[in-house]
Amino acid sequence: MSQRIKVAAALKSGPVGTEVDVRGWVRTKRESKQGFAFVELNDGSSLANLQVVVDQSVPGYAEFIKLLTTGSSVRVVGELKTSPAKGQAVEVHARELTVYGTADAEKYPLQKKGHSFEFLREIAHLRPRTNTFGAIARVRNELCSAIHNFFQSRGFVYVHTPIITTSDCEGAGQMFQVTTLDLARLAQKQVEIDYSQDFFGKRASLTVSGQLEGETFACAVGDCYTFGPTFRAENSNTTRHLSEFWMVEPEMPFYDLNDNMQLAEDFIRSILKQVLEKCPEDMKFFAERIDKTVLETAENIVSHDFLRLSYTEAIDILEKSGQTFEFPVKWGLDLQSEHERYLTEQKFKQPVILYDYPRAIKSFYMRCNDDGKTVRAMDVLVPRAGEIIGGSQREERLDVLVARLQECGLNPDDYWWYIDLRRYGTVPHAGFGLGLERVLLLLTGMANIRDVIPYPRTPKHAEF
Ligand code: ATP
Ligand code: MN
Repeated sequence: MSQRIKVAAALKSGPVGTEVDVRGWVRTKRESKQGFAFVELNDGSSLANLQVVVDQSVPGYAEFIKLLTTGSSVRVVGELKTSPAKGQAVEVHARELTVYGTADAEKYPLQKKGHSFEFLREIAHLRPRTNTFGAIARVRNELCSAIHNFFQSRGFVYVHTPIITTSDCEGAGQMFQVTTLDLARLAQKQVEIDYSQDFFGKRASLTVSGQLEGETFACAVGDCYTFGPTFRAENSNTTRHLSEFWMVEPEMPFYDLNDNMQLAEDFIRSILKQVLEKCPEDMKFFAERIDKTVLETAENIVSHDFLRLSYTEAIDILEKSGQTFEFPVKWGLDLQSEHERYLTEQKFKQPVILYDYPRAIKSFYMRCNDDGKTVRAMDVLVPRAGEIIGGSQREERLDVLVARLQECGLNPDDYWWYIDLRRYGTVPHAGFGLGLERVLLLLTGMANIRDVIPYPRTPKHAEF
């Protein structure tokens, strides 16, 4: 009896000399005039294909050769043998073939190679079958596993913060509204919308961050993290923003900003290291086909300490850089991607953590410094992706928090539950948010964030 084996396993430690059963999709087929054909089979378990040798002794040979076009699905039973060809250790000599499904060569969109990434976005249902998107899927998977490993090995509790939220926090303008009201009918009637009639009896939205709810758990179960989809309705059509992306948000009681920066640094190093170790084949592919610096960049990050600079020092460096930037550099203004990239790609050629940002450009929950001008915020900037982490030590003082809410034009009543954490057993605490897709930009060298998530959502674009 032959046993089903995945292509990756066959290629690795293949049980040479035994009969195997492999199943997958045909990538290419070459026919020889001598009455046999080579079929490259891929089942997604690895970048590499398994070569199948089909000769005319296989029952139904002539028919099969016509059916085995690119994209068709097939089962092959045959002997795994050492391959005489260069570049592969083993191949399968088919004894028996079954075609599950054909793929019309005239119509199958991936019949030809070399489609642009723009075109592939339009066929998001088929693009995982290409080498690039298969590799991204495996690297993304390994990265998620590494994220859980890192936190689980340190005793963090994985908390699921809500995806639908009625706390109109942070950036109300950036939120997607969730409603079951009949908008078309209401528009006809031209009456004011009564949210008490809506599904939750009040206005609801998709979450822009799980942080505030994460804090409630950090102040109960201790070190914890959320990891889930995050939605931002910001109209930024850049290569680094998605309307739906995945964010990892750890929150730690008894951490100050330095502890927070150290955790962020250890975290990034650890997850990159695991991907480099577990996905060497896919990473080599990105280095060869997408950006030749990706391995060097990731290895550098893994083996060096991050540079830490205050925001004020960074502004000074940018002002003295002699560079012409599109956006102005001035103390009090937020850094733009071009500034972040100058620091990490040209000036220091390594990740940089900036801290102590002007309070006027940062959120209400960040802890105020005694200078009255800055807050205990930190951003981790890396080559290529720019900001991948934004975090802070949280304001744990009740009176300061309430004053800050007012200063930011927010109503403390709306945050009563968040303020309660400062009312009952408040502790110093800190946390950050890491954008999963930004890490993938860094790792893979892909230029556009739309190409590192299975189904990208951006303004005016949501396929399927
Ligand atoms: P940026 O300045 O790059 O727009 P931000 O400061 O608005 O980001 P934060 O609110 O600090 O982002 O979110 C934490 C992290 O989430 C960011 O460092 C980034 O890695 C990621 N992130 C934020 N917005 C997006 C987005 N629209 N698409 C993808 N990732 C994002
Ligand atoms: Mn940020």
